[in-house]
Amino acid sequence: MDYQRVIEQVMSATAPHIGEGAVADYIPGLAKVNPKQFGFAIATADGDCYTGGDVDVPFAIESISKAFALALVLSRKDSEVWKRVRREPSGLAFNDLIEIQLENGIPRNPYINPGAIVVADQLLSDTGDAVAALRDLLRAESGNPALEVDSVIAESELRSGDRNRAIAYLMASFGNMRNSVELALDHYFRQCSFSITCAELAKAGRLIARHGLRADGSRLLSREDARHITALMTMCGTYDGAGEFAYRVGLPVKSGVGGGLLAVVPDKYSIAAWGPGLDAKGNSVAGAVALETFARVSKSAVF
Ligand code: GLU
Repeated sequence: MDYQRVIEQVMSATAPHIGEGAVADYIPGLAKVNPKQFGFAIATADGDCYTGGDVDVPFAIESISKAFALALVLSRKDSEVWKRVRREPSGLAFNDLIEIQLENGIPRNPYINPGAIVVADQLLSDTGDAVAALRDLLRAESGNPALEVDSVIAESELRSGDRNRAIAYLMASFGNMRNSVELALDHYFRQCSFSITCAELAKAGRLIARHGLRADGSRLLSREDARHITALMTMCGTYDGAGEFAYRVGLPVKSGVGGGLLAVVPDKYSIAAWGPGLDAKGNSVAGAVALETFARVSKSAVF
């Protein structure tokens, strides 16, 4: 593939859409981000990285962290996580409460907020420090040894997190929290607040594209569990917009309300796009155009 040519095509198709959408203003720290930024990066399975635009500007990883937290939880043999979270699309918003009530405190999947809070709670029980475990993983896989939580964003999430608090307490009332709600949420909020660049995200995504192999060549996940992470990205990685994403892009994608999108073409590449303006479902508008263009021009859509 002529990577530079593909990047040029992606950048020119995306240019008219940069700045479209709205930044996530329900988290005050995200509301301040300049929406007129855009970055795109392709990290190949064999170690190269090709980039365009604002690829070195850090942004909040938000829900994309959920795929990595799940990877850590699944890396433990006999994890009880699948007793606590299901594997179905939700069809409702990522911070919906009703389904939790109707389905007895068991979230539909690990990528909506309730499921991710359960995974953070599980990772906290497994490791004693979910944020530290995730930090170590993201540092090693992104190649940035200084990657860190943005404390301003974390504080902002904590202050504006009543909906997540309600979700977690509701799950606790059904017996589906192992740690105190406030402690698990502290880890969840900080996990969402890791500051990462587009280029770093693409590199970190190789863990998934390479079926669970880490940057140092060791294996974190079984091939099967890496496939499970990818399957879930397809079914529910872009909230209740997952159907439309599968249709338009044809790749497994995980998004975050910081405007990041991570897509993988198993065995070949991990692709990151970042544009802070979101559509009504919480997915980056420019990022979606970029991934759609990438999948088309590179002929790498897998479905
Ligand atoms: N920290 C955000 C929240 O809990 C994450 C949402 C997202 O990126 O989907 O609402």
